[in-house]
Amino acid sequence: MRLVSPLLKRVVYPAMRRAGWLDHTMPPGGYAVVNYHGVFPAGYSDGEEFLDGGLVQPLDLRRQLQFLKSHYRVIAPEDFRAWIEQGKPLPPRSVLVTCDDGLLNILTDMLPVLQDESVPCLFFVTSASCSEDPGMLWYEELYHLMQDQPLSGLDSQLPIEIGAEFNSPENLQARWWSVVRRASQLNAEARVDWMTAVRTHCGPAPARPEKRWRLLNIRELKKLSEAGMSIGAHPRTHPVLSLCSDEEARREIQECKIEIEGALGRPVWAFAYPFGNPSTMGGREMLLARQAGFSCAFLNVEHWPGQGFNRFALPRTHVTTDMTLPEFAAHLSGVHTRLRRAVGA
Ligand SMILES: [Zn+2]
Repeated sequence: MRLVSPLLKRVVYPAMRRAGWLDHTMPPGGYAVVNYHGVFPAGYSDGEEFLDGGLVQPLDLRRQLQFLKSHYRVIAPEDFRAWIEQGKPLPPRSVLVTCDDGLLNILTDMLPVLQDESVPCLFFVTSASCSEDPGMLWYEELYHLMQDQPLSGLDSQLPIEIGAEFNSPENLQARWWSVVRRASQLNAEARVDWMTAVRTHCGPAPARPEKRWRLLNIRELKKLSEAGMSIGAHPRTHPVLSLCSDEEARREIQECKIEIEGALGRPVWAFAYPFGNPSTMGGREMLLARQAGFSCAFLNVEHWPGQGFNRFALPRTHVTTDMTLPEFAAHLSGVHTRLRRAVGA
């Protein structure tokens, strides 16, 4: 796929788009779900290329929303809910817009674009956004801390990585992901304590642009909800769920629902799995989402191996910074997944 991807991105998809094929291909199941992780706030420049890959420029968001409005039927989250819960049919070529994590920039820089384009969105937030002082996503803060200096043995306090070779990966990203997986095996309270020890070891962090990195606090979450946007649940603390104990995975999925419902005073019917791919979750998490009382749950991938329709494993197109409009169209229409399967990637 390494050689195929640039070819698809630069040659095949633009040609298919020019020929009009991507604009009218029916997505699998007749509907599509788009997933964002926020936008770059105005004035943000000191980029962190690796972690920034999941955000988009506000202008790209606007173009993508305009594409959706021209070629799909953008539906409200409540329409999607009525389909899932009551079987009320969706219009052909329906598309639902979603966004994970609850970064502050969704209120300051994403919401104005959504409102300008009259596009509703289903935002998935963690329990951190039910508090006054939510901080950053712990695994993003950890990446910054590891970038600044080595953990000097603090990682040896963590459980060993399940199923991994016992070796130390060379590059920072692989080392970081290994530590994220190991820290995900701690319960939430022990992980908070461990992160406090890492912060103390690393010393004061340089100031980072708040709108890029901080999560919404409870007042800001309420503003988003009052602006007419729908709120769903991400887990309590965003670990790799498949590495949590049964009890901790249950808490992560069930308690975020209770906490967000308590904070907003309205039912939370949808869940989005953290990381949301086959290496971070599976059947246990789907069952827990059902048992927690959600009506449905979303993946962060377009295809789940060997799976037909399952309302607790709903595929989504994960939009990335470098995604061109023809690529966006190819992903939404299902053409990308079909081509990948055709070449065995
Ligand atoms: Zn997330």
